[in-house]
Amino acid sequence: MIHTEEMEFAPRVVSPENIAEDGDAEVSLRPQSLHEYIGQEKVKEKIAIYIKAAKGRGEPLDHVLLYGPPGLGKTTLSSIIAHEMGVNLRVTTGPAIEKPGDLVSLLTGLNDNDVLFIDEIHRLSRPVEELLYPALEDRVIDIIIGKGPSARSIRMDLKPFTLIGATTRAGQLSAPLRDRFGVIERLELYNKEQLTDIIRRSAMILGIPCEGDGAEEIAGRARGTPRIANRLLKRVRDFADVMGNGCITKEIASIALSRLEIDGLGLDSLDRRMLSMIIKGYGGGPVGLETLAAAIGEESVTLEDICEPFLMQLGFLGRTPRGRVATRLAYEHLGILPPEQEKSRDDGQLTLP
Ligand code: ADP
Repeated sequence: MIHTEEMEFAPRVVSPENIAEDGDAEVSLRPQSLHEYIGQEKVKEKIAIYIKAAKGRGEPLDHVLLYGPPGLGKTTLSSIIAHEMGVNLRVTTGPAIEKPGDLVSLLTGLNDNDVLFIDEIHRLSRPVEELLYPALEDRVIDIIIGKGPSARSIRMDLKPFTLIGATTRAGQLSAPLRDRFGVIERLELYNKEQLTDIIRRSAMILGIPCEGDGAEEIAGRARGTPRIANRLLKRVRDFADVMGNGCITKEIASIALSRLEIDGLGLDSLDRRMLSMIIKGYGGGPVGLETLAAAIGEESVTLEDICEPFLMQLGFLGRTPRGRVATRLAYEHLGILPPEQEKSRDDGQLTLP
């Protein structure tokens, strides 16, 4: 496999993670209220009730853990929760809270019922995580003052607050931390209709003329992810401006997405490389994730967090205790004969048209 440096470092158009080109537009496209937040109906319904109940009692919302693949709207939902609760939102990430002292200043800086959002909460360091336990449970923190034998610990009360933790990997969260969240919700990949609505809404905000079936064409290739849908919309707009009259039609969307190497189902070259390595390199699997990642020169976390949820949703990939396997649907999509058909063809039992 030939790998150029550019290929390694250019962010994928279909990466669900935030990349530089998403820029400020991502902020302007963020829905402000639960009403504007499309899809995730069950989660929305429950959150709306919790918000109403908490507001009625004048209390903060219970701590919330949101999990699911990147780009599905965890940060957006948190800002909506803060907005609907009428409180401030502080946004940070697990790796950014380096020392216990960083967490202390974050927590002591909160006002009554404020929301603290910690993205990638599974990446908190152990000492920071331990400091968080009493903060979540009893609204207190223990601060160590001084060093060595004269060090002493003082306990400080915190104002009532809500922690919203977001993670792509709920499984990596320690049990004591997970148990301290009263509300645990999984965000699901979006279906085509929901993504079409999201694209139409974004096109309206950005002033991009977009026909219904143009939006649908983009939605069908956005891997169930609003962030990707919005990014593709902006890329397709460029093609519409240059190749047409600026309006996104089905035809323009289809041409643009093919040029971006995103196929009819939304797979890009990395997804196809992953599947074809399982099939051609390992006889369809099972093959361990690390082996597979090394074989195609990618990080295993990229494959696990980004390619797999979508490929599994399409039914192209299975996870077994012995590794990943490609399904018959994956063979069909890549136009490769599954092994049993291959065998029957060799035996002369199958006549292909
Ligand atoms: P995450 O925190 O899960 O990575 P974000 O909340 O940052 O994802 O969402 C990425 C972008 O997708 C946001 O800018 C927002 O415009 C859009 N988005 C996410 N969820 C929705 C939704 N339910 N409805 C409309 N737009 C959404």
